[in-house]
Amino acid sequence: TVAAVAGLASAAAAALFSSLGPAAGTSLVWFKADLRIKDNPALSAATAAAAATSRPVIALFLVNVGEWLGHDMAPIRADFLLRNLACLKKSLAALNIRLIVRNIEENGLDSSETVAEVARAVDARTVYWNREFEVDERKRDKKTETILKAAGVEVAHFQDQCVMDPGSVLTKEGKPYKVFTKFKYTWITLVVRNRVHAQFPPAPVANSVELPAAATAYADAHSDCPTKLDTGLQLDEAKAKAAREMFPAGEDEAHARLTHFLTDKARKYDSARDLPASDGTSSLSPYLSSGIITSRQCISAALKANNNKMEGGTEGLSKWISEVIWRDFYRHILVEFPRVSKNRAFKSETENIPWLYDDEAFAAWSEGRTGYPFVDAGMRQLNSLGWMHNRLRMVTAMFLAKNLFLDWKMGERYFMRHLIDGDLANNNGGWQWCAGTGVDCAPYFRIFNPLSQSTKCDPKGDYIRRWVPELAKLKGKAIHDPYGELPKAEFLKLGYPAPIVDHKFARDRFLTAFKLAVKKL
Ligand code: FAD
Repeated sequence: TVAAVAGLASAAAAALFSSLGPAAGTSLVWFKADLRIKDNPALSAATAAAAATSRPVIALFLVNVGEWLGHDMAPIRADFLLRNLACLKKSLAALNIRLIVRNIEENGLDSSETVAEVARAVDARTVYWNREFEVDERKRDKKTETILKAAGVEVAHFQDQCVMDPGSVLTKEGKPYKVFTKFKYTWITLVVRNRVHAQFPPAPVANSVELPAAATAYADAHSDCPTKLDTGLQLDEAKAKAAREMFPAGEDEAHARLTHFLTDKARKYDSARDLPASDGTSSLSPYLSSGIITSRQCISAALKANNNKMEGGTEGLSKWISEVIWRDFYRHILVEFPRVSKNRAFKSETENIPWLYDDEAFAAWSEGRTGYPFVDAGMRQLNSLGWMHNRLRMVTAMFLAKNLFLDWKMGERYFMRHLIDGDLANNNGGWQWCAGTGVDCAPYFRIFNPLSQSTKCDPKGDYIRRWVPELAKLKGKAIHDPYGELPKAEFLKLGYPAPIVDHKFARDRFLTAFKLAVKKL
């Protein structure tokens, strides 16, 4: 009944407006890392306002491959964005919304100036967007807002990246949480009490008003969605093919994955999530990072599957919900402590650690030649696919910082430059967790033994066999530790390196250096 009344009201408003003729100008929606139609507050707000004013909606995306790569975005992620852009264009066309694509490198203007130029060209009265939380992106959005307002264009922006708005989950004293569990319980209380997970914006309304001629002409001239070739994106073909097979583009694909995960995999998630040979996680991270699906949609669907319980219910489901809350947590940290995104440790006392900058060790780590099969398998999965299982992200990151004693920022950057799901908040949070420098991180004395991680998380060695073909024929314990288990002559035949560092030596070196550096303060 409510929907019917609302429908009548909007029909009456539309009739009134159409008798007055369409309002002048357009509403412009600027898409960024939110390449979707559903649960998109900026798009919904623009189409709702447009329907009420009979003002047509037009959309914009800025391609900026040079800057993306300059900011350490992986080429494989840029390719994923471009693939999803083509899907977005189709979904917008179904709503009768044209998509303008501007390539920043062609016009000599920065992003803010380009948005203003497009707003002028399509006679936009309001520009809508969803906010991003990284420091540079916040500066860019602020500048865009200032330029647009100075030109008399209204601005409306929205929060779509977290379930709970950053700054809204605070201690009793009104301070940001620095401990995940405490954050999580307050988060759960607030989400459940206010039903935040169910507060989706209304579905976007299709355009029913014709675009002004000038806007149509502009959209005609700037409507091509570039592909990696047009943008000169240098991408390894084999890697691109593997990533495209594993991560097809599109909002429908993301939702199909979520449903498949919740129906078939989530119940066993708590045990399967640490076994990289099993396909036990959702593989939704690229879709979440590029905004093809939202964490609110994930939480809402997971809650339904878990009898409306955040905690309890099925253990696998509540564990998965908890992981998605980590995502919110790291975004809140990025907003509250922006220094973490500027090459700074969350724990300032750890900035004294005299990390090494050993190029050879770094090359061996990044190429998967450390002589620790489990570590090497993880790095080779990343290099081949642009994606790595969470357990391996932890093992390889901890190996870099605590075994090789290399600056974690070198590894953080390498991950960003290679991950299809590269996401500053999660990546920085994950790296600082592993290095012992971050918020609520692994204690400095927790140092994974790469061999016991291997036997525990890949007991049959199937994951190693898949990614380290030189070892594919090994059986038993040798798959985890060929150097320690095989006779020397046999080991040499494998063409696989000996371990580049002894774990016990590395452990002592890290503990001593960490304690010394922290004590010095
Ligand atoms: P699932 O296990 O199915 O989890 C669902 C979603 O929850 C994930 O897609 C992700 O959005 C979120 N999530 C899960 N675990 C974490 C976590 N520990 N912290 C924050 N969010 C989490 N994730 C990224 O999305 N981008 C990154 O660049 C990134 N870099 C990382 C670097 C390191 C060193 C570490 C330890 C972790 C990193 N993670 C990153 C977190 C995590 O490894 C990935 O999100 C996860 O492996 C993605 O696989 P999935 O989608 O199958 O996850």
